Amino acid sequence: MKKILVSECLCAGRAVRYDGGRKTLDDPRFLKWHEKGRLIPVCPEILGGFPVPRPETQLRGGRAFTRDGREVTRGFVLGASRTLALALKLGAAFAIMKENSPSCGSGFIYDGSFTGTKTPGAGVTAKLLMGNGLRVFSEHDLDEAEAFLNALEAVPPPSPL
Ligand code: SF4
Repeated sequence: MKKILVSECLCAGRAVRYDGGRKTLDDPRFLKWHEKGRLIPVCPEILGGFPVPRPETQLRGGRAFTRDGREVTRGFVLGASRTLALALKLGAAFAIMKENSPSCGSGFIYDGSFTGTKTPGAGVTAKLLMGNGLRVFSEHDLDEAEAFLNALEAVPPPSPL
């Protein structure tokens, strides 16, 4: 059974977001994958040593800064490398990560101005995973993720003798 690395805040369970909340995904396919034990929930920022709650953080020029201007890039990089190590160790086939996050976003992130403005780009962890060949889908791309999973698990036709 193929395993899927997922942002932990998308799952019921521990509240890991910076504001102490979750962004629970209730799509029946995601819940079924969870029930079957396919999901590997991980929060890169917790793995990077950050507490809950923690200051809101955004990326600027590839570096991570809190709203009050403190640089926290080192923790983000540590969390990313620990997440990649976990994905490789547990054999994740691909990932579903929370869009817009400075760690997990794969298509969009906030632009560093703390004005609610999004910009195309990827978070520190998603970027590292993709750079190491792991496909990353956002929680908005479950149709694509499901098709990708089905293709991975399709039984190949018998080879001609
Ligand atoms: S780092 Fe990722 S898993 Fe953790 S709270 Fe942020 S989006 Fe969710």
